[in-house]
Amino acid sequence: MHVQFFHNTVLTCISNESDSPLTKQRNEFLPSVMKTATQTTIEGSPSWTATVHRNRLSLGRLQRAKVFLWQLAHNAVLTASRTVGWGRENNPNCMSCDNDIETPFHVIRDCPMSSPVWNCRVKLQNIGMFYNLDLKEWIIANMTVDMGSDDDMEWKDIFVIAVWLIWKFRNEYIHSNINTSLRIKEMKIKNLAREIRDARRRIENNQHEESLTVSWQPTQKD
Ligand SMILES: [Zn+2]
Repeated sequence: MHVQFFHNTVLTCISNESDSPLTKQRNEFLPSVMKTATQTTIEGSPSWTATVHRNRLSLGRLQRAKVFLWQLAHNAVLTASRTVGWGRENNPNCMSCDNDIETPFHVIRDCPMSSPVWNCRVKLQNIGMFYNLDLKEWIIANMTVDMGSDDDMEWKDIFVIAVWLIWKFRNEYIHSNINTSLRIKEMKIKNLAREIRDARRRIENNQHEESLTVSWQPTQKD
């Protein structure tokens, strides 16, 4: 019980994945990135400090994003259109915009909460194709064609990360009423893509694995 709490708390902190249902994978991820962890007490509350492998953490997050993309491709993402089919909810409409049926593809690409993110990143000449493919074609095209407007980062990395973070932004909005601005969404996607690019470069250059120290206190609900 204590270990479970600890694993979930550490990973919630270091990878900000409080919405993920993949607890099993999360618990496998933890030992691969963490070097040390200590617990202290501040004003009667437990406080944790962990040192993690920076490169492994960055590439582990890319791996998590790829797992989500696989789930999306295999219709394994739970949205309102699917829970209606299970008789658990009555309204299949998008919980963010209420404009359309909430399929996973609507949430990730077409929802007005998501499309501005893509419109900023996809090259103008590719926009028509980007919005005219079905889900599987769309995933294959984005994983094989350079659709983006960034010259210094690989489009497929930005694509996978954007898909994953858009899902997280949607969950934060409907579950916690957090409405992240387009600017912040853009920044988070770009920062994570840069982090992954830099981790790859450090590994290619045989640079010494850097450590990153993170500290946190469990919140009330923990
Ligand atoms: Zn929507």
